[in-house]
Amino acid sequence: HPVMNPTPADPSKKTIVILGSGWASTSFLKSIDTELYNVVVVSPRNYFLFTPLLPSTTVGTIDHRSLVEPIRFITRHKPNEVKVYEAECTEIDSDKKIITIVDNSEVKGDRATSTISYDYLVVGVGAQSQTFGIKGVEEYGCFLKEVWDAQKIRTKLMDCIETAAFPGQAPEEIERLLHMVVVGGGPTGIEYAAELHDFLAEDLSAWYPELVGKIKITLIEAMPNVLPAFSKQLIDYTESTFKEQHISLHTKTMVKEVKEKEIIVQGPSGEKEAMPYGLLVWATGNTTRPLIRNLMTQHPETQNIRRGLAVDDWLRMAGANDIYALGDATATKYAPTAQVAAQQGKYLARVFAQLHATEQYENEVEIAATAEEKAKKARKLQKAQDIKPFHYSHQGSLCYIGSDKAIADVPFGPGNVAAGGVATYAFWRSAYISNLFSARNRWLVITDWTKKTFWGRDISRE
Ligand code: FAD
Ligand code: NAD
Repeated sequence: HPVMNPTPADPSKKTIVILGSGWASTSFLKSIDTELYNVVVVSPRNYFLFTPLLPSTTVGTIDHRSLVEPIRFITRHKPNEVKVYEAECTEIDSDKKIITIVDNSEVKGDRATSTISYDYLVVGVGAQSQTFGIKGVEEYGCFLKEVWDAQKIRTKLMDCIETAAFPGQAPEEIERLLHMVVVGGGPTGIEYAAELHDFLAEDLSAWYPELVGKIKITLIEAMPNVLPAFSKQLIDYTESTFKEQHISLHTKTMVKEVKEKEIIVQGPSGEKEAMPYGLLVWATGNTTRPLIRNLMTQHPETQNIRRGLAVDDWLRMAGANDIYALGDATATKYAPTAQVAAQQGKYLARVFAQLHATEQYENEVEIAATAEEKAKKARKLQKAQDIKPFHYSHQGSLCYIGSDKAIADVPFGPGNVAAGGVATYAFWRSAYISNLFSARNRWLVITDWTKKTFWGRDISRE
């Protein structure tokens, strides 16, 4: 039996329910004024994850704990109490303004389902990994989106290597086990392949000298080039660096089916071919979460972009009242990046400050005693009502490509500066360090990098 509405902290204030604890929602949470609203956070994970460095955790360059920040570390600094529920939102009833939440963790109490009413809903649930419905991907592939995905990859990688080292293993089985395939040449696939290469060159070669020449990395991309969002010169630089690193690049190649030990691929000639593999990392981009698809079907006239929730320039969900959406859950003109999500979160908190001021001045205009005071309040009301649309400011794109090299496309004046190499890697490192959420995370990541420099990466299974 669902429990209705945990009591809000202050019944005289409106309640904002935030869904998610990723880039968009956490940025909103950090900026929202809890003096003005009751704030409730609902997310199936009780932490924020710094995704840009996630590929580094798949091989132990960085420990995953260094990239997470518990949401309660953030809420405890807010002036008023913020309620945090570790739960998944399974349903949004936009007419009744009620959401259903479910405790989907392994440990359950007497109750695992509840409902929460909202005055405003902020949807920042992100997206999930795209499979295009290709058979076998969910079952045999590894995604790279969450901490547990990275842990699974690390375990599987070490398992493939140790199994290949098992006595009496047939040569073709060793070859299969040591074939690491990455599907998708976007930044996720590229950064993962780069980290894997470094692990191989810097650590595995020392610990498994008998296997090292047999480990092979293949990257499969459907389009003619990798990294379509980067400039041509950086695409060429990445492709030539991959060549030097012996990462085999198959462009214009589509994966048609995934089996337990082999994938079926179709290359530029149209011929289908079976490719045996040990580890398969699947990074072909995003698709909409079921919660969002479900919400879209409640509003068929206004919600017809499959990529995500349609919102206007003020991040209001089209066709619904008092629902705002941001980040990867939405379909906008912007790329689904942390940069966009974080800026949207900050922006939306300012919108809510203005919405509150609007209500306040509306009341004050109403009760103003003199004409002069009424006019003064009316001017303030007008200012509060003037909410500017969201404006995105692009800071540039960065991507790690292995061997201490990175690429950067950074806007500069009216144009763009494209750079690649070891100096760009120093820039990449400093940019990520300064963007980490807390001093605690910065210290942890720098410690991990230092540890790796002195002792190499840990090859124990996750
Ligand atoms: P997310 O950060 O994915 O957060 C979604 C949140 O919603 C999570 O807390 C999740 O637990 C929660 N949630 C999910 N379902 C529910 C539900 N039903 N109810 C409630 N909560 C729910 N972008 C960059 O700009 N630069 C980079 O260098 C970069 N590197 C990346 C590297 C990797 C490996 C990956 C995967 C992505 C990278 N991105 C990068 C993209 C960036 O991570 C995303 O664009 C960003 O995370 C989007 O933020 P979001 O808040 O919309 O979603
Ligand atoms: P993506 O959408 O950027 O790239 C996916 C790639 O997979 C595309 O190049 C696509 O052509 C290819 N692909 C699709 N189907 C395929 C198939 N069946 N076989 C082979 N290839 C196929 O996805 P992503 O790399 O996961 O990135 C998602 C978002 O996160 C993007 O907006 C990206 O910019 C962002 N991100 C940024 C960084 C960074 O800035 N360093 C790192 C990771 C992710």
